[in-house]
Amino acid sequence: MLEIQEKELVFNFDKCQQCGICSAVCPKKAITFLSRKDGLYDILINKELCILCGKCVKSCPANKIYNYQNYFKAFPQKEYYLGYNKNYEIRRNSSSGGVCKTLIIEALKQDLVDGVYSLKKTDKYPFAEGEFYTKENIPTFDKIPNSIYHSVMACTEIHKIKNCRRIMLVGTACQLRALNTVINKKCQEIIRVCIFCKQQKSLDSTRFLAKIMNTRIPENLNFTFSYRGNGWPGIVKINHAELPYHRAAQIPFGKRLWTVPGCNVCGDSYGIFAEADISLMDPWEIRSSNDLGETLITIHSNKGKELLHACHGIVLESKQYNEVLPALSLKDIWRKQVTEAAFRETECKPIYQKAALWEMKQRTYLQKTVEFLPKLPILFYRVLAKLPDLRNKILK
Ligand SMILES: Cc1cc2nc3c(=O)[nH]c(=O)nc-3n(C[C@H](O)[C@H](O)[C@H](O)COP(=O)(O)OP(=O)(O)OC[C@H]3O[C@@H](n4cnc5c(N)ncnc54)[C@H](O)[C@@H]3O)c2cc1C
Ligand code: SF4
Ligand code: SF4
Ligand code: SF4
Repeated sequence: MLEIQEKELVFNFDKCQQCGICSAVCPKKAITFLSRKDGLYDILINKELCILCGKCVKSCPANKIYNYQNYFKAFPQKEYYLGYNKNYEIRRNSSSGGVCKTLIIEALKQDLVDGVYSLKKTDKYPFAEGEFYTKENIPTFDKIPNSIYHSVMACTEIHKIKNCRRIMLVGTACQLRALNTVINKKCQEIIRVCIFCKQQKSLDSTRFLAKIMNTRIPENLNFTFSYRGNGWPGIVKINHAELPYHRAAQIPFGKRLWTVPGCNVCGDSYGIFAEADISLMDPWEIRSSNDLGETLITIHSNKGKELLHACHGIVLESKQYNEVLPALSLKDIWRKQVTEAAFRETECKPIYQKAALWEMKQRTYLQKTVEFLPKLPILFYRVLAKLPDLRNKILK
């Protein structure tokens, strides 16, 4: 998070959501990134170059504070679908059902949009960067990454965006919030696809997984990975080692450890305040493991619904609110919302302060324990992951 305090620009890592837009909007190139051991970035401000114009502060998504009071009111009335790509291989190889990639590719092919800002794969850590796609460079499915859970500064490449009539923005809620601050002047109409997200993680989470899987992330960060793909919920692959995703979720990897610090001050996983038209997520709890996969789709606007129905190649099964409720994570998001003020170090009810405090204590303790100890039998980690979640106990 960036603020101007007493005529000085101040960076606060503890609230940074690692979107990368601050550097991209700076007219003086006064912001650079310094990589940290945990794979995240510190932000360096060149005070000699900075003219305190405030553009970075205005774009920083972590600065935006919302009133969540009626956040969940509209959920029972929203439309929901399970969706997947018709093609068996694409569906199987995608994060969930491949809806996100299909939307990007089909919307461009069918002239439903004339530009898309999303990610492309790269061969250097973090193995993805922002890309602007048009009819001239429509990606193939294998060029767009599956869900990357270590942090990716998706907004650093906004200079690639050209003026267009109708653009599709794809990203997590914080990335959409950041992109919204720069996009209006460039495009007449915007359609936003939000990748539902409760946290991104530091690379230490991948290091932990690598340890469990008897492999390692080398110092030069030259490694291969895929967190998702190969059916539902898929297989985690690091270098040549493999771990079924449902097993990774049963060890502390699936808990809120190694979280990007700014995710503690974000309670809008659906991107509603970022004006998302649709949100895409996993069908946790409502689908058991299978060889394929489905994306759970929440519709927020008619524009989103029209786009979804217009795209060829996506099979849609309409679902009732009650059928998808267990997968929507609404309680979890509520817990994030009510503890946000405590993480922002502002006033809130003592119970929320207490929940945030114990959340941090428990996370730090668990993280240090599993990082410090050598690899132990998987049962040990499963027992650790089963310890009562103190935040959830306090905020029943
Ligand atoms: C960091 C992160 C956390 C998530 N947490 C949850 C969760 O807690 N619960 C849940 O139900 N679902 C979560 N998801 C969403 C889920 O993993 C799938 O992305 C979603 O179901 C869409 O699946 P799909 O098959 O349609 O996507 P695909 O068709 O496989 O397309 C994946 C899309 O995600 C984009 N992408 C990948 N990684 C990132 C990233 N780090 N930042 C921005 N864009 C990215 C790609 O560019 C691509 O457009 C998370 C996703 C991410 C990236
Ligand atoms: S205040 Fe303006 S000049 Fe200074 S770092 Fe931010 S964007 Fe750049
Ligand atoms: S949240 Fe984004 S804009 Fe704000 S400081 Fe971090 S990287 Fe920069
Ligand atoms: S939880 Fe919020 S801040 Fe963190 S990555 Fe997701 S959308 Fe961004």
